[in-house]
Amino acid sequence: MTCDLINLATPGVAGLLPYQPGKSVEELERELGISNIIKLASNENPLGPGAKVKQAISSTSELSRYPDGNAHDLKKALAKQHGVNTDQITIGNGSNEILELITRATTGSQHEVIFSEHAFAVYPLVTQAVGAKAVVVPAKNWGHDLSALQAAINENTRLMFVANPNNPTGTWLDTQALRTLLESCPEHMLVVVDEAYFEYVDEDDYPDCIQWVSEFPNLLVTRTFSKAFGLAGLRIGYGISHRDIADLMNRVRQPFNVNSLALSAAEAALGDNEHLQESISLNQAGMKQLTTAFDDMNLQYIPSVGNFICVDVESTAQTGIEIYNKLLHQGVIVRPVENYGMPNHLRVTVGLKQENEKFIKALESILTAMDVNT
Ligand SMILES: *Cc1c(COP(=O)(O)O)cnc(C)c1O
Repeated sequence: MTCDLINLATPGVAGLLPYQPGKSVEELERELGISNIIKLASNENPLGPGAKVKQAISSTSELSRYPDGNAHDLKKALAKQHGVNTDQITIGNGSNEILELITRATTGSQHEVIFSEHAFAVYPLVTQAVGAKAVVVPAKNWGHDLSALQAAINENTRLMFVANPNNPTGTWLDTQALRTLLESCPEHMLVVVDEAYFEYVDEDDYPDCIQWVSEFPNLLVTRTFSKAFGLAGLRIGYGISHRDIADLMNRVRQPFNVNSLALSAAEAALGDNEHLQESISLNQAGMKQLTTAFDDMNLQYIPSVGNFICVDVESTAQTGIEIYNKLLHQGVIVRPVENYGMPNHLRVTVGLKQENEKFIKALESILTAMDVNT
């Protein structure tokens, strides 16, 4: 018997392409047989977790027991930090899981989901997976176009995803812009503000949307421990919302969706402000290092408030992918973003000083070699 297993997919899944993660160091080592590879491709914290997290992980006992499915201790710590009730908090296996849970819990094939061009790749994925219609709003200066987002809302709209700041562009919305958007969203839809890079942003007018959850019942704010807190490998993030929204997500989540190590590490990370501040300072210095180098090389870039930056390589007459491949051969992994509709850009994560230096040197040598050839 031959069976067409692919045909068993639901209509949404049939048209789905899996998320493409950045290339790993091990993968490149295998492919090219080189060592001393650096990876500036997935917006991870180059310092990794702090000493308090490592301590918490090594003292986590009872790995034979199921984790606390209600994440009691972590929720208590988060509730205190954000001034919300614990029943407004949803803990996820990465904040990606929160994005998936809210979509599965609320959105079906009869609905529309709005997000911006060049927005985070997970939004189209979760939308397509439930068979809903993705409404992609053209970007404005690489960022969210507020009035176009508002204009895209109709009676079928169920969700809108807004990343603030956005990945991969690093663009951001200020308090007034985002409030105006929220005020224009009707009750039959939810707005998800994805604040994965919240801790890195140092702008006076940058809003902490968790403070608005009591005012806007249809608002869900997501945060993560993967970026500034340095726990990407443990997979833990959270959502804060009206408790009814948390209730809906709780109905579809796995009972033990977040593991014991992640729970205790996240709690320890919250209590280590020193390491967080060190991570933020390192990022600010590294961002300066990168933009100064781009200026020196006469390369344009999109100003970013996150821990990554998109540099425009169009002036080299090569695509992002071509430069990416040349960087790979020098042991530097960055992220091509042609799948985000940005074929002339590369996204670079801010690394340690010497990592940024290695990337800059490699890029310089590629540009110099091209000058010689032309
Ligand atoms: C990295 C990132 C996330 C977080 O992913 P996790 O699942 O928490 O690791 C969410 N949103 C955006 C925009 C991101 O760039």
